[in-house]
Amino acid sequence: MALTVALAGNPNVGKSTLFNALTGMDQHTGNWPGKTVGAACGRCSLGPEPVELIDLPGTYSLSARSAEEEAARDAVLFGRQDVTVTVCDASCLQRSLALALRVSEATRRSAVCLNLMDEAGRRGVRVDVSGLHLALGLPLCAVTARKKRGALPLLAMVSKEIPERREPIVLYSPEIEAAVEQLAPALEPLGEMVETRWLALRLLERDDAALASVRSHTGVDPRALPAVRQALEAVTLAPKDAREQIAEAVHRRAEALCDRYVVCRRDRGDERDRRLDRILTGKASLPLMLALLGVVLWLTIVGANRPSEWLASFLFGFQDVLTAIFSSLHAPAWLHGVLVLGLYRVLAWVVSVMLPPMAIFFPLFTLLEDAGLLPRIAFVLDKPLCRCKACGKQALTMCMGFGCNAVGVVGCRIIDSPRERLLAVLTNSLVPCNGRFPTLIALLSMFFVSGGSPGAAALLTALLALSVAATMMMTRLLSATVLKGVPSSFTLELPPYRMPQVGRVIVRSVFDRTLFVLGRAAAVAAPAGALLWVLANVQINGASVLTLCAGALDPAGRLIGLDGVLLLAFILGFPANEIVLPIAVMAYLANGTLGDPGSLEEMRALFLANGWTPVTALCVMTFSMFHWPCSTTLLTIRKETGSLKWTLLAALLPTALGACLCFLISRLALAI
Ligand code: GDP
Repeated sequence: MALTVALAGNPNVGKSTLFNALTGMDQHTGNWPGKTVGAACGRCSLGPEPVELIDLPGTYSLSARSAEEEAARDAVLFGRQDVTVTVCDASCLQRSLALALRVSEATRRSAVCLNLMDEAGRRGVRVDVSGLHLALGLPLCAVTARKKRGALPLLAMVSKEIPERREPIVLYSPEIEAAVEQLAPALEPLGEMVETRWLALRLLERDDAALASVRSHTGVDPRALPAVRQALEAVTLAPKDAREQIAEAVHRRAEALCDRYVVCRRDRGDERDRRLDRILTGKASLPLMLALLGVVLWLTIVGANRPSEWLASFLFGFQDVLTAIFSSLHAPAWLHGVLVLGLYRVLAWVVSVMLPPMAIFFPLFTLLEDAGLLPRIAFVLDKPLCRCKACGKQALTMCMGFGCNAVGVVGCRIIDSPRERLLAVLTNSLVPCNGRFPTLIALLSMFFVSGGSPGAAALLTALLALSVAATMMMTRLLSATVLKGVPSSFTLELPPYRMPQVGRVIVRSVFDRTLFVLGRAAAVAAPAGALLWVLANVQINGASVLTLCAGALDPAGRLIGLDGVLLLAFILGFPANEIVLPIAVMAYLANGTLGDPGSLEEMRALFLANGWTPVTALCVMTFSMFHWPCSTTLLTIRKETGSLKWTLLAALLPTALGACLCFLISRLALAI
């Protein structure tokens, strides 16, 4: 049997980084609390011994307030791990240590990992590791997970037989200790399944959530045991007083340990962080953040243009090679049509349009995330979101949505109140995901800013600001109608600014995010391309099926400033937004005689030849920002809400908004 080790700890202390360092896996890390939703499992080995690692979601305490904290508490208490390691932030030890004390009280075998030792050193914080080790009486190891320093020794330490702790780790007031002693014998029947001292404390506090969790995991309601009831009746301490005294004792113990074993000389880092925060979260924060977004988009557009053209000319050049191979093999024309003219061509389009912007945007976004910017954005957007009766944490899920809406929807689990979580889920796809950026960028450069990328970046920033405004508006609308309620309060920690790990971020975001998203898009684009070729070449009454379908959709398309082909492209793009523009190009090509457009200029010519005007481009961009979410996102919404009704609403909201906006734009243009 492999040894199983669970990593618990406050959010943002480096659990996932440690998990990745040990398992070589790639759990999402980032400098903000709340990004690990759900536990992750991985394997590593210690010499010949296999070890299984579990990365738990972050939690501040074991008295759970949110679904995530509940999951973490239940995993600490009833998980299948042999050892629970509490990962602590050495640069800010007291709070982490309080959780370590609580975890050690609740588990039989636990250990402590002092992570972020490098940051502690830089901040002038020195920890007397061996002194703390002796005083705690728990296995303890100093680690710098980012540099993989100390990770293996930590594993070696926990893999040794850790003796069960006999002494209590925190001593409480005589009153509480006496009550615990009275309760202990009554709780004996549950002794195999749960730590009786921990359970006795929860009974004294009347911690209903924890007791319900004990009941559901052990099948026994501790309060229903006659001996327990009898012992509780004899206790004179009020639950509220017990709660206060217990929290106070844990706090005092952590404080005493830090006073004794941690020396904090000076904190230069803190001063710098505070100065930066005054700027980034102060009065000018909103324009500053917009400017930052503008710079990221500008870099994306400038950087993506040329490589896109190179890729297109290379891939379309290769199409001729493929055609030559097919004709030398005397392959039937339909096979060449389906595979090369359909499947390969759409694939080539998707790759050349999508890959360059993604390969630039993802790493830049991840660098900002790693530096600690995301929680600041949430902080700045908290007030406007509160005015929309939503939770400030929704800003974080919106940021995730910029990467991928499905990820954003799952990320909504960090929001505690079910009403606010639903608001965030329903409105997430109003921010355009990375699959839609390339469409927006290409159309902007083609129709609105010739060659001037700062202009394109500014326009794109404005569009994204519009999507944020639309999200707020819809959120307000929903909270005034179907999802009425008052916004709940929440605490969001602003983590220290950290130097991002540039190399790792670039490698991981290119390999994991970019190629992953591209692979998903390609998997959808390939069959879509083949289908498109078939639709364009199967004739009914002298007209191709494609023409018939586009013709049938044309009136609806024209109503919102598009045409039948574009509406069909949006419908066929349901599996992945990335393929909408390539499908439109292919559909136009299938009907005409133009060659493959290798550059944006040629693509523009193709669109103009098919009756486009700048108004059409504007409507395509608007509809691309606001229409039904892709199939993956919708499936995720169905899974997260467990309701078909909310899933349908999530599809209807952006579609209705997009259709209305497009209708208005096209009517207005006509009137002018
Ligand atoms: P989790 O929420 O506890 O899983 O935290 P993560 O693993 O996502 O890490 C939070 C942030 O701390 C990320 O920006 C990491 O790169 C950073 N980090 C983690 N471990 C270390 C470390 O040992 N040293 C430094 N300097 N940064 C670290």
